[in-house]
Amino acid sequence: MSNIVIEVPTAAIEKMKKMYQSYFKPTTPPGAVFAAKKNNVNITAYRSGKVLFQGAQAENEANQWTSYQKKTTASPIKKSSPTIALPNGFASWSVLGSDEVGTGSYFGPLTVVAAYVAKEQIPLLKELGVRDSKDLKDPQIIAIAKDLLTFLPHSLLNVMPEKYNQIQPAMSQGKMKAILHNQALKHVLDKIEPVTPEAILIDQFELPKTYFAHISDQQFQVKEKVYFATKGEQHHLAVAAASILARYSFLKGLDQLTEDAGFKIPSGAGGNVDIVAARLIKRGGTKLLGHYAKLHFANTEKAMKIANK
Ligand code: MG
Repeated sequence: MSNIVIEVPTAAIEKMKKMYQSYFKPTTPPGAVFAAKKNNVNITAYRSGKVLFQGAQAENEANQWTSYQKKTTASPIKKSSPTIALPNGFASWSVLGSDEVGTGSYFGPLTVVAAYVAKEQIPLLKELGVRDSKDLKDPQIIAIAKDLLTFLPHSLLNVMPEKYNQIQPAMSQGKMKAILHNQALKHVLDKIEPVTPEAILIDQFELPKTYFAHISDQQFQVKEKVYFATKGEQHHLAVAAASILARYSFLKGLDQLTEDAGFKIPSGAGGNVDIVAARLIKRGGTKLLGHYAKLHFANTEKAMKIANK
C-alpha cells in the first residue's frame, strides 16, 4: 500500500472533482474538497491543494496529475502569488466575505452567500459560535444561522436544480459560481452603503485571474480590496458566517426537495444518490429528475442505467 501526496492549484482540483465525481464517497473528511475511491485507490483532495492517493495503484493514479503539480522550489515571490497573502491583523478588520455550498452535491441547490461583519461584531459572532462550518454539526449550523439572519447584512443566492440545469449547459460551474459571488458581494455593498468594508474576502475556489475573467462580462464587477484565500473561514469570521448561512440554505433546499419527493433526498455524489435518482427517473424520467439534481454530474448516467435494468 503506497501513499502519494501531490500539491496542485485550485484549477486542477476542480478538474479532478469533475473526473472523480462518479467515484465520490458518501462523506468528505474535514478540510477536504472531495474523497473518492477509484479501482481501490483512495483519493482525497484538500482545500490546501494537497491531494492524497492511497492504495496499491496510487502511483498510477497520481501520475495523471503530476503535470499540474505546484513547483515546491518556488521563490518567495512566486509563493505569494497568485494568491496574495492577507495583511497583518486581517482577522480583526471589518470584512465582507463570501462562500458557496452545494457544488459537489448532485441533489440540491448551489448556494452562494456574502456577509458583512463589522469589526465591532466579531466578539458577538464568536459568542454565537461562528467558526469553520466543517467543525459544526447540522443542528448547530441551523441554530447559528437563524441567529445570524436576524442581524447580519448578507445576500443569499440559492440556485435550485431546475434553474441550475437551465444555466449550466452554456456555462461552466466555475463561471456560474464567480458570477454568483460577484452578485452577492454587490448586493451587500449596496445594503451597507455608505459603510464600506475594509476588505472583501472570497473563499477561493479558482485562481483570482480565472475569477476576474469569469466576471469580466458582468455589468458590475466587485474588484476593489478583494482578497482570495482557501480556507477563507479560518481567516475571517465573515467567510465563516457566509459559509454557515450557505450551508443552512442548502440544507433547507434539500428539505424542500425531500418534501416534494416524499422520500429522503440526500446530499453528496456517492453511489447512494444514484439509487435515489433512479427512483425519480422511474417516476418521471430525467425531466422530473431535473427538479432535484444537477443533471451534468456523471450520476445521471449511472442512475439511468440503474433505472433501465
Ligand atoms: Mg468555499
